[in-house]
Amino acid sequence: MKLLVTGGAGFIGSEFVRKAVEIGYDIAVIDKLTYAGDLERLKEVESNITFYKADITNKEFVEYIFKKEKPNIVVHFAAESHVDRSILDASPFIETNVKGTQVLLDVAKDIGVEKFINIATDEVYGELGEEGTFREDSPLVPNSPYSVSKASADMLGRAYYKTYKLPVITVRPSNNYGPWQYPEKLIPVVILKALNDEKIPVYGTGQNVREWLFVSDCAEAVFEIMEKGKVGEIYNVGSNQERRNIEVVKTVLKLLNKPENLIEFVKDRPGHDFRYSLDTTKIKKEIGWEAKTTFEEGIENTVKWYLDHIEWTKKKLNYLKEYWEKVYK
Ligand code: NAD
Repeated sequence: MKLLVTGGAGFIGSEFVRKAVEIGYDIAVIDKLTYAGDLERLKEVESNITFYKADITNKEFVEYIFKKEKPNIVVHFAAESHVDRSILDASPFIETNVKGTQVLLDVAKDIGVEKFINIATDEVYGELGEEGTFREDSPLVPNSPYSVSKASADMLGRAYYKTYKLPVITVRPSNNYGPWQYPEKLIPVVILKALNDEKIPVYGTGQNVREWLFVSDCAEAVFEIMEKGKVGEIYNVGSNQERRNIEVVKTVLKLLNKPENLIEFVKDRPGHDFRYSLDTTKIKKEIGWEAKTTFEEGIENTVKWYLDHIEWTKKKLNYLKEYWEKVYK
């Protein structure tokens, strides 16, 4: 069974690829290696995979790869993935997430695949107040340029299933965290800044709520959906582990033995969604999957991983400093 994984050098994609190699799948990876991609994440499996440094918007190259690799299944993770960057400049988000997805769907339709797993996000549903939860049939009301681009990619997958019978399955995971996450996302930012005794920027009053999904649980859910999911269906992948941002930050500080006075509340992210929460009845009932990792276990593992891999994280620092100046004003 040959899998073609896009964005396989990214945070979640690489976790999926490392697991797929362990299970024994034959794997080809396409990744542009943007600032967020890093082959170090695939070092331990590099001799077991075929890697293509390629942009998914380049149709000719994508066609060449499909013809050469003849994948049975495409697992499409590649994306511009950071909301804050989409607020600074939406163009790469439209280019990669919308056009790139359309190119992949077109090539998969023309050449033929058994399944196309389209990785979307819980952010396509928009925000909730303190109550409620999103089901797979909830309306899509995305608020940021990122979530709009992901909702477009999600809907393109639906259209290719409805129009061309391309065997698309849509996966909508909640907020992932864990080893190898690029240190622009909340948890690694907190770890990195706290270790340097620098002020930790927290948006607004830190009351926003996210549903925290440990990355290995997410990768496992994608395998289960790939094997047991029904073509044309959508599956929410959540953990039911909701935490406020401020709670997350305080937990990390406690684990690192750092004082809470490092926290600095900064101007809120424009259009900051208050809360996301997924109803996961469908995946439990139809696939038999549920997240294994509690937030407390996952966060402890994550902090430990960053302490053990501090050199990798520090390598990203120079680039990040410039970016942080633009975002946290
Ligand atoms: P990431 O930013 O860590 O990785 C994205 C990867 O895609 C990188 O390796 C990058 O080099 C590659 N890429 C970007 N543009 C490309 C292009 N034009 N052509 C080929 N490769 C390209 O992202 P992630 O956090 O691993 O997210 C993976 C997927 O899961 C994305 O589709 C994201 O929207 C979705 N998702 C992420 C989360 C989360 O919390 N991280 C939650 C729900 C859904």
